[in-house]
Amino acid sequence: MDERLARTIEDRRDELAELTAELIRFPTVNPPGDAYRPCAEFIAARLGKRSFGIEFIRAEGAPGDSERYPRVNVVARFDGRTRGRTVHFNSHIDVVEAGDGWTVDPFAGIISEGRVYGRGACDMKGGLAASIIAAEAFMDINPDFPGAIEISGTVDEESGGFGGVAYLAKQGYFSQPKVDHVIIPEPLNKDRICLGHRGVWWAEIETKGEIAHGSMPFLGDCAVRHMGAVIRAFEDELFPALDQKRTRMPVVPEGGRRSTMNINSIHGGQTDDYDGLPSPNVPDSCRMVIDRRFLLEETLGEVKDEVVTLLNRLKASRSRFDYAIRDIMEVMPLMTERDAPVVRAVAEGIREIFGREPEYVISPGTYDQKHVARIGHLHDCIAYGPGILDLAHRPDEWVGIDDMVESAKVMAISLDRLLRGSP
Ligand SMILES: [Zn+2]
Repeated sequence: MDERLARTIEDRRDELAELTAELIRFPTVNPPGDAYRPCAEFIAARLGKRSFGIEFIRAEGAPGDSERYPRVNVVARFDGRTRGRTVHFNSHIDVVEAGDGWTVDPFAGIISEGRVYGRGACDMKGGLAASIIAAEAFMDINPDFPGAIEISGTVDEESGGFGGVAYLAKQGYFSQPKVDHVIIPEPLNKDRICLGHRGVWWAEIETKGEIAHGSMPFLGDCAVRHMGAVIRAFEDELFPALDQKRTRMPVVPEGGRRSTMNINSIHGGQTDDYDGLPSPNVPDSCRMVIDRRFLLEETLGEVKDEVVTLLNRLKASRSRFDYAIRDIMEVMPLMTERDAPVVRAVAEGIREIFGREPEYVISPGTYDQKHVARIGHLHDCIAYGPGILDLAHRPDEWVGIDDMVESAKVMAISLDRLLRGSP
């Protein structure tokens, strides 16, 4: 059976490359969220021909949704002859802007020397195409299969997934009994299974001061200098402490196997938006955005306390220091168990195709799995797909056709194990 599946997919190598190229030709750049509807309609037309039932779900009122840029998601479902379990392949159709430095047209979908080039080639239109070919091949060889297969193309993953997977999850699209197993074909490499991701706390810290004439700073209070004290405390205490916190989560790259924090931005004082005229004042406000990534071994409460304790100490020790802190985003860390059904099925596919054990990894950043887990309460979910993560969001992004073919085989074998029996 695995042999026949593999051969059927091998025969569709050119079709898989062409399908990827066609998907790339929709410039689904986010922001602003362009070309979502035609891309969703293209996926629907393809799967509709294979008798999938099609639903378009527009996330009305979601961030960015407008008549010009409607947040259109597509969910396709094929029910087998008999009842059984449902496997859902979820891909985001949005891509990040092309940016500079390309030597090919990023939206031409160029196929050359075993690769497909374009923005979104690896992240993640190649994965979407591989899952479509895998499902079609599986259905051709097993016309009487039990259970159901779903394939979705969802929007806005690159901006948090609120109009995409989060919106659908709130409506029950990612919960049992509708769905049992979810595979997200993000580009994590064809022989790796991504079990989850670290947690996220984004927050804004504001230090406060008092406005005065810049020539007489002694009459005011400089919010930027107060922020300087915050940075000094971070450098002296927080960063060294974070560096010591190691995790059992197998994050790749390895630098992510600890707690980290980025200072995303600092803005203090009046901006020079007014034709470059500099501000003449002592700034009364300075804002910093921090991006703290945390581990299964930490709680969100502890993570926040670390920062708040440090700020409160400054407030007690530093003259006129005052601050405010505001949460921007919170995501819990996730790690699906290695003996979960979807993990075992994909691991078996990797063993069959590559003759070796899969590598189990954790992503340093988050992706749509967070919504499946938190909103859908569905924990049998992983990321598995072709493509090299380092190429995502880069100029001359590409995906290897061999990689797509091989990972489509792994996906088809996973379908076989999840729907037709236990591994
Ligand atoms: Zn992605």
